[in-house]
Amino acid sequence: MPTIFSKIIAREIPATIVYEDELVIAFKDIRPLTPVHILIVPKREIPTVNDVTPEDEAALGRLFTVAAKIAAENGIAERGYRLMVNCNKDARQEVFHLHMHILGGRELGPMLVQADMPE
Ligand code: AMP
Repeated sequence: MPTIFSKIIAREIPATIVYEDELVIAFKDIRPLTPVHILIVPKREIPTVNDVTPEDEAALGRLFTVAAKIAAENGIAERGYRLMVNCNKDARQEVFHLHMHILGGRELGPMLVQADMPE
Protein backbone atom coordinates (compact mmCIF):
# COMPACT_ATOMS: atom_id res chain seq x y z
CA MET A 1 0.00 0.00 0.00
CA PRO A 2 1.46 3.40 -0.94
CA THR A 3 1.62 5.90 1.89
CA ILE A 4 -0.46 9.07 1.88
CA PHE A 5 2.73 10.94 1.03
CA SER A 6 3.41 8.67 -1.97
CA LYS A 7 -0.12 9.51 -3.13
CA ILE A 8 0.74 13.21 -2.87
CA ILE A 9 3.94 12.60 -4.87
CA ALA A 10 1.86 10.75 -7.51
CA ARG A 11 -0.69 13.63 -7.53
CA GLU A 12 -3.42 11.17 -6.48
CA ILE A 13 -4.44 13.38 -3.56
CA PRO A 14 -4.08 17.15 -3.33
CA ALA A 15 -1.51 19.06 -1.31
CA THR A 16 -0.05 22.54 -1.33
CA ILE A 17 3.32 21.68 -2.84
CA VAL A 18 5.99 24.33 -2.26
CA TYR A 19 9.06 22.55 -3.67
CA GLU A 20 9.90 19.46 -5.71
CA ASP A 21 12.97 17.97 -7.35
CA GLU A 22 14.13 14.49 -8.35
CA LEU A 23 14.82 13.41 -4.76
CA VAL A 24 12.36 15.20 -2.46
CA ILE A 25 9.03 16.99 -2.31
CA ALA A 26 7.82 19.61 0.19
CA PHE A 27 4.23 20.55 0.99
CA LYS A 28 2.25 22.31 3.72
CA ASP A 29 1.20 20.20 6.68
CA ILE A 30 -2.57 19.68 6.62
CA ARG A 31 -2.84 20.39 10.38
CA PRO A 32 -0.30 23.19 10.94
CA LEU A 33 1.06 23.55 14.47
CA THR A 34 2.88 26.81 13.69
CA PRO A 35 2.44 29.66 11.17
CA VAL A 36 5.01 27.90 8.97
CA HIS A 37 4.65 24.11 9.07
CA ILE A 38 5.97 22.33 6.02
CA LEU A 39 6.91 18.70 5.47
CA ILE A 40 9.90 17.69 3.33
CA VAL A 41 9.68 14.11 2.14
CA PRO A 42 12.14 11.88 0.25
CA LYS A 43 10.40 10.48 -2.82
CA ARG A 44 11.65 6.99 -2.00
CA GLU A 45 9.26 5.47 0.51
CA ILE A 46 11.50 5.00 3.57
CA PRO A 47 9.19 3.99 6.46
CA THR A 48 11.27 5.29 9.39
CA VAL A 49 14.76 6.52 10.25
CA ASN A 50 15.49 2.90 11.22
CA ASP A 51 15.15 1.92 7.55
CA VAL A 52 17.63 4.45 6.18
CA THR A 53 20.46 3.03 4.04
CA PRO A 54 23.63 4.63 2.63
CA GLU A 55 21.81 4.93 -0.70
CA ASP A 56 19.45 7.41 0.94
CA GLU A 57 22.20 9.84 1.94
CA ALA A 58 21.74 12.13 -1.07
CA ALA A 59 18.00 12.47 -0.46
CA LEU A 60 18.46 12.92 3.28
CA GLY A 61 21.10 15.59 2.77
CA ARG A 62 18.72 17.30 0.35
CA LEU A 63 16.15 17.58 3.16
CA PHE A 64 18.45 20.08 4.87
CA THR A 65 19.29 22.18 1.81
CA VAL A 66 15.59 22.37 0.97
CA ALA A 67 14.75 23.21 4.61
CA ALA A 68 17.16 26.16 4.48
CA LYS A 69 15.66 27.35 1.20
CA ILE A 70 12.09 27.09 2.51
CA ALA A 71 13.04 28.87 5.74
CA ALA A 72 14.53 31.75 3.74
CA GLU A 73 11.52 31.94 1.43
CA ASN A 74 9.17 32.06 4.42
CA GLY A 75 11.17 34.76 6.24
CA ILE A 76 11.98 32.61 9.28
CA ALA A 77 15.68 31.93 8.70
CA GLU A 78 16.95 34.69 10.99
CA ARG A 79 14.38 34.26 13.76
CA GLY A 80 14.87 30.52 13.71
CA TYR A 81 12.84 27.39 13.33
CA ARG A 82 12.82 23.75 14.36
CA LEU A 83 13.45 20.69 12.15
CA MET A 84 11.88 17.50 13.47
CA VAL A 85 11.82 13.86 12.38
CA ASN A 86 9.67 11.46 14.40
CA CYS A 87 10.48 7.74 14.55
CA ASN A 88 8.02 5.08 15.65
CA LYS A 89 5.69 4.89 18.62
CA ASP A 90 7.47 6.80 21.38
CA ALA A 91 7.84 9.78 19.03
CA ARG A 92 4.20 9.39 17.87
CA GLN A 93 5.10 8.99 14.21
CA GLU A 94 1.81 8.97 12.29
CA VAL A 95 2.86 8.60 8.67
CA PHE A 96 5.32 5.81 7.97
CA HIS A 97 7.09 7.55 5.12
CA LEU A 98 10.10 9.38 6.53
CA HIS A 99 9.64 13.16 6.58
CA MET A 100 11.13 16.27 8.12
CA HIS A 101 8.88 18.90 9.70
CA ILE A 102 9.86 22.57 9.40
CA LEU A 103 8.20 24.43 12.26
CA GLY A 104 8.50 28.19 12.62
CA GLY A 105 6.94 31.63 12.50
CA ARG A 106 6.49 31.93 16.26
CA GLU A 107 8.48 31.31 19.44
CA LEU A 108 8.44 27.53 19.78
CA GLY A 109 9.02 27.00 23.47
CA PRO A 110 11.10 24.19 24.93
CA MET A 111 11.93 21.18 22.78
CA LEU A 112 9.80 18.91 24.97
CA VAL A 113 7.20 19.79 27.59
CA GLN A 114 8.59 19.24 31.08
CA ALA A 115 5.40 17.47 32.15
CA ASP A 116 6.18 14.73 29.62
CA MET A 117 9.38 13.86 31.49
CA PRO A 118 9.34 10.94 33.92
CA GLU A 119 10.11 11.71 37.57
P1 AMP B 1 4.43 12.48 12.05
O1 AMP B 1 3.76 12.41 13.39
O2 AMP B 1 5.83 13.00 12.14
O3 AMP B 1 4.31 11.20 11.27
O4 AMP B 1 3.63 13.62 11.26
C1 AMP B 1 2.77 13.39 10.21
C2 AMP B 1 2.27 14.73 9.75
O5 AMP B 1 1.62 14.56 8.49
C3 AMP B 1 1.24 15.37 10.69
O6 AMP B 1 1.72 16.64 11.12
C4 AMP B 1 -0.01 15.49 9.81
O7 AMP B 1 -0.75 16.67 10.06
C5 AMP B 1 0.57 15.47 8.41
N1 AMP B 1 -0.33 15.01 7.37
C6 AMP B 1 -1.08 13.88 7.38
N2 AMP B 1 -1.77 13.76 6.23
C7 AMP B 1 -1.43 14.83 5.47
C8 AMP B 1 -1.81 15.28 4.18
N3 AMP B 1 -2.68 14.60 3.42
N4 AMP B 1 -1.27 16.42 3.72
C9 AMP B 1 -0.40 17.12 4.47
N5 AMP B 1 0.00 16.75 5.69
C10 AMP B 1 -0.51 15.62 6.20
